[in-house]
Amino acid sequence: MDNNALHKIGYGLYVLIAQQGGKDNACIINVAQQVTSDPLQLMICVNKQNLTHDMVLKTAKFNLCPLSEEATMKPFEHFGFQSGRNVNKFENCEVELRSENGLRYLPKYINACFQCVVTKAIDLGTHTMFIAMVMDAKVLSDSPSITYAYYQQHIKPKPAVNSTAAGKKRWVCEVCGYVYEGDELPDDYICPICKHGKSDFKLIEA
Ligand code: FE
Repeated sequence: MDNNALHKIGYGLYVLIAQQGGKDNACIINVAQQVTSDPLQLMICVNKQNLTHDMVLKTAKFNLCPLSEEATMKPFEHFGFQSGRNVNKFENCEVELRSENGLRYLPKYINACFQCVVTKAIDLGTHTMFIAMVMDAKVLSDSPSITYAYYQQHIKPKPAVNSTAAGKKRWVCEVCGYVYEGDELPDDYICPICKHGKSDFKLIEA
């Protein structure tokens, strides 16, 4: 099977926000889609290893915010490259913005906010697919939504040319194309973009 075929599927990039027991948290996901218009329902897919996954499963509530072309690497590093189990991701947010459902959203980097209530959770093994009703939605910016291809071309820093010479190895996520650089790929590594695990990464031969 040619896994590169998966790169031909278009993906967006979204901030998924939840709250449980007074704790706000968020992660980056790349699978979200409107599935029906009457009633208005969305589908998202989230890796079970994300703390936000557990919070959505338990509280049946989330905000979904498409990242826009105003985004830099910062929201990816902040929400995607670290876990809410270790840090409070909203601790140093410059303003505290909450939608009517009490959940957080961001002052920048996003262009809309969908307030959702989960109606169905489908166990897909590594991930859970959530079907949700959109209770309210608002546009926050006219900046276009980013695709994963846009992220690769315009946001993600280009890998250092001499990284191989410096002894660093590179692994590519066969699901979304994300490249990890380092001495070793940790066993518990989760792709910061698509949330797939180590088994979906392949070593790039120098
Ligand atoms: Fe990935």
